[in-house]
Amino acid sequence: MTTVINNLCIIGTGLIGGSFSLALQRAAACKKIIGAGRSEKTLQQARQLKIIDDYNTDISAAVKDADVIFVSVPLGAMRTVFEKIATGLKQAGNEQAIITDAGSSKQQVQLLAQTIFAQAGKYFVAGHPIAGTENSGPAAAFADLYKNRRVILTPVKNTDKEAIRQVTELWQVTGAEVETMSAEHHDKVLAATSHLPHLIAFGLVHCLENLDDIEDIFRFAAGGFRDVTRIASSDPTMWRDICLNNRQPILAMMKSYKDEMEMLYNALQSADGEKLMEVFEHAKQTRDKFTH
Ligand code: NAP
Repeated sequence: MTTVINNLCIIGTGLIGGSFSLALQRAAACKKIIGAGRSEKTLQQARQLKIIDDYNTDISAAVKDADVIFVSVPLGAMRTVFEKIATGLKQAGNEQAIITDAGSSKQQVQLLAQTIFAQAGKYFVAGHPIAGTENSGPAAAFADLYKNRRVILTPVKNTDKEAIRQVTELWQVTGAEVETMSAEHHDKVLAATSHLPHLIAFGLVHCLENLDDIEDIFRFAAGGFRDVTRIASSDPTMWRDICLNNRQPILAMMKSYKDEMEMLYNALQSADGEKLMEVFEHAKQTRDKFTH
């Protein structure tokens, strides 16, 4: 693999940023990778794990020589991080550096970039890898995270074509398949396929917590329970931020789900086996069609 870029700066060297870096290093796609973030402890750990070559605790200073800046911090931290990046790039006269992110919702991030970055965010390419685990931090990162997974980019009319090309190439180097769509469509689709399932998992475990036989529930938890609740071990800060950033599409999905639960509740209450069979058969057919 030939070098794609010289200097990469990763802000937020946890699962998502760390895995991006490890995958690019494996392909020798960047000459130098600098990390930046919040706590020095995390950055030190990232350097020890060879996720980054070096770090700078000052985000504005870290981006000074960057060709590409990859932002992988929780959504609630994006505004402050974007402001620090903009200040650093302006001071260094490096405002044509490409900025991209991995945030799990896109409309709000896109809006922030347009208001904070130079030329209404011309060099910002919003992105979201559809890959992850319930683990976080640098130690959770691994080079294969994005292999054969999808990455969605949500550029706008103003986005620089060369920036889109370069961000696409970097993701392809990690083994991912890149797709493009509007931020609005992204947020609607992800509310259904990722955000609602996380709320269901968090809600289910939380509801069981209050039952008297909680010890036995977890002791005898079978595969089904583990499958449905695995993602309730995900980082609470990250998920609070995702919910708050994608409120309307998630609320719409929650309403549909609430109606569905109500319908199943009524069917069961009236011992309507026919209705239950109809719903279960349809659900099985749909899942088998799309996942097999
Ligand atoms: P993570 O493992 O917890 O890593 C987050 C990183 O951001 C850490 O290095 C953390 O540093 C840093 N950070 C936190 N708050 C910060 C702040 N205020 N200023 C600067 N740095 C800060 O999280 P992740 O799973 O990599 O997620 C990162 C982003 O990717 C999120 O926006 C998330 O929505 C998105 N995403 C996640 C997944 C997933 O499955 N996990 C999938 C796709 C996209 P400290 O250790 O110092 O706090």
